[in-house]
Amino acid sequence: MSKKGQLDELNKKMSECSQCVLRRTCSRVVPGEGSAEAEIMFIGEGPGKKEDELGRPFVGAAGKFLDEMLEIIKLKREQVYIANVVKCRPPENRDPLPEEIEECWPWLIEQIKIINPKLIVTLGRHSMEKFLPGRKISEIHGKALRKEIDEIGKRVFYTLYHPAAALYNGSMREILIKDFKRIPKTLVAIKKSDSESTSKIKKNTIQNRLL
Ligand code: URA
Repeated sequence: MSKKGQLDELNKKMSECSQCVLRRTCSRVVPGEGSAEAEIMFIGEGPGKKEDELGRPFVGAAGKFLDEMLEIIKLKREQVYIANVVKCRPPENRDPLPEEIEECWPWLIEQIKIINPKLIVTLGRHSMEKFLPGRKISEIHGKALRKEIDEIGKRVFYTLYHPAAALYNGSMREILIKDFKRIPKTLVAIKKSDSESTSKIKKNTIQNRLL
């Protein structure tokens, strides 16, 4: 079956999930959207009010800003994949709890396995924390880190601040845009290092200064 077919099937199953408490208070499951062939997968925290209403990720104010940044690097939403660590809106837009993220984790893992993106871009602290536990977003934002995760193997993660955090904070906005603009070069470097011998990859980190 094609990747799109597999993803459609998975997202359909996900839409019927009622495993965790979040499903009791949200209107619908928001699986994610974009290309099943995407090289870049963005992973946010969880649906907000607008996402819950429409069943689509990042369609509120933070999503508008994400779209603007994608436009800066000449990408359309349809070319990337956008998902969240939890697929159901936490009440009152509170942060997702660790156990809720854990419960939803298998869905995200299946999405990553099907899409098999070259670069996973985490948006915000909660998304970063799940893949890169113990790291500080203030230290690793804008850096590409290669890490092996049991279920999905070796992956490259690129950490960004959450677009919502930058909406009303000018300096955060500047940092986020600056980090975002490095995504295309990061992707080129990943493809280059994938095609070269592994000796070219310095330890487990792809340093931005090498890009
Ligand atoms: N914030 C997120 O983390 N995800 C969304 O889908 C929308 C807002």
